[in-house]
This record gives sequence, C-alpha cells and structure tokens, in this order.
Amino acid sequence: MPPKSDINKVGTESSDFPILCESCLGENPYVRMSKQEYGKECKICTRPFTVFRWNPGAGARFKKTEICTTCAKIKNVCQTCLLDLEYGLPTQVRDAALGRLNEAPTSDINKQYYTQVMEQAMANTSSGQLQDTPDARMASSAAKEMLKELARKDPYYKRNRPHICSFFVKGECTRGNECPFRHEVPQENGLEKQNMADRYYGRNDPVAKKMLSAHAESKGLVAPEDKSIMTLIFLGLPECQEQDVRTSLLSSCPFIQQTQIKSLSIVAASHCAFTTFVNRGIAERTAEALSAQGGIEVLGKRGKVVWGKSRPARGAAASAAAAGKAKAAA
Ligand SMILES: [Zn+2]
Ligand SMILES: [Zn+2]
Ligand SMILES: [Zn+2]
Repeated sequence: MPPKSDINKVGTESSDFPILCESCLGENPYVRMSKQEYGKECKICTRPFTVFRWNPGAGARFKKTEICTTCAKIKNVCQTCLLDLEYGLPTQVRDAALGRLNEAPTSDINKQYYTQVMEQAMANTSSGQLQDTPDARMASSAAKEMLKELARKDPYYKRNRPHICSFFVKGECTRGNECPFRHEVPQENGLEKQNMADRYYGRNDPVAKKMLSAHAESKGLVAPEDKSIMTLIFLGLPECQEQDVRTSLLSSCPFIQQTQIKSLSIVAASHCAFTTFVNRGIAERTAEALSAQGGIEVLGKRGKVVWGKSRPARGAAASAAAAGKAKAAA
C-alpha cells in the first residue's frame, strides 16, 4: 500500500522530460516540445500522465507520447513507439533473447497497482532505474550478440512520416498534393494487426514473431511444413539427467508451462534430448526463443536446437535409441 501522504498523487503522473528513442525524437536537434500535464490516460496503466507533443522534422507528422514514463521505465522502452531503448527492438524479441518472462497484469486495477509497486521499487534504488534481474544480467553473450544483429544501427526517421491517406486507399481523395497524408498503397506487414498492450507486454506481436522466425531460419532452424511435428531435439548436450534439461528449458523459456511439455527424454549415448510439446505454437515459440539465445545451455554447455524430422511413431525415446544404436554400430 502507498503511504497516506501519497494518496493524492496515486493514479497520476507528472514528468518534466519524456523518455524517447532517437527515431521518434527526429533529426532536428532543437526539437521544441509542447507539454500537457495529465493530458491523457497512459495506454498501458490507464493513469493520467504528462503528454509531450512535437514535430520530429520536415515532412514528418506530429508525434506524442502514448504511455507514461513509469511504464516506459519498467520495460525500458520509448514512450511513443514502445520499442526497446537500447536495441530499438520489440520487447517480445528482446525478452525472448534474454529469456525473460513477460508478466502482464490483467484488470485495470491490477495494472494501476502493478505500476505503483514498480514505481516504488524504482524510487528505492539509487539510480531510479529498475534493477535488472540476475537472469538478465547474466544473459548469454550469444543473446546479446543476436540482439545487436537484429538491432537497427541508425535512427529510423521513416517511421515519423505522415500516415497513409485512407481516402486515397479507397480512391476517393480529392486533395491531391495538398493532402497532408501519404498517397501510397499500404503494405501488408502485420503492423495493422498490432495492438499497443501486446507490443508493450511482448505477447502476440506479429512484428516480433516475424523477426524471431526470420532469425531462427537464418540459423537453420526452419519450422517444418508438417504441422504435426512438435518435437525439438537438443544436440551436443553434456552428460545430464532429464531434470537438468527440463530445468534449463523452463528457465530459459519462462513462458513454457510444465503441462505444455508432453514428453522429454534423454538419449545419453548420442548426447541429445527429445522434447515434444502439446501443440505446435509452443514448439515454434520455444524454437525461436532458443535460437535467439544461441541454443540451450545445460549444465554450462550450450547445446544446438533442431526440429524433429518426422512424427516418432513408437515414441521419441524408442526411435532415438534405435538411431543411437545404428550410429554406434556404424
Ligand atoms: Zn503508464
Ligand atoms: Zn520511439
Ligand atoms: Zn489524401
């Protein structure tokens, strides 16, 4: 519970400076901001916050902050585009690579309470920033490498262009060159189906999904056409127990629930493990996350991840054991 003296402050947020990425800020180094205290509700926690509005450069549309500074700090994202401030990536991509869990409060009450708790936590640290979890601090160098690979190196000012003219799309715009909106045919890129809360919490983000699967494919982890394949094979594991693999799988992919792992079996002879999931979606998400982390680390050794080839008819362990024997015999 917040202290009594803070009761009047609870539920609102006032700030002097916005937290913005370079792209949203624009090219102009002398950008002038207009500020409106408690101008709008934060799109995430729903508390009124200070809205900043500015013109990011010639030919750009006016931009404004969409979420409050507390929500931005919690996820280390830009208040306008909601992309990660360090890498310019969607939170879903960043968190998959770092093996972080996306906890999202459900109701509006929970959201406000969650934000207040986090605010308090930040106020209690000397830096005013959230302390990174030990997991995040120990994020594998492979994951950081991957984030750098995916990250945009330069600011992306194209994002600040005016929106596409909806009348032009219907062939009905009569304003011609005077029209302040872009006269272009919109591209299907998944962005139109994106919603702000999903982007913020890093779940069901079509843009992130596309980036992660493209990255997995670039590392040779192409999801098989046969949708009945829900098995991932971990190769090059050290001598370990089934529980060791299960533990590292669940800690590096905290979105997996115990019950979503249908079976997990070790083939000691060939240093591999077969993990079958209850559905294809969770298998794909796991493959993408592990690929973003550069593999799966079991007892300090990094194993490779590949998709199962075909549906194991007699159970993964049996066919794997057969494969192991065949290899040993050869
Ligand atoms: Zn907020
Ligand atoms: Zn931004
Ligand atoms: Zn138009």
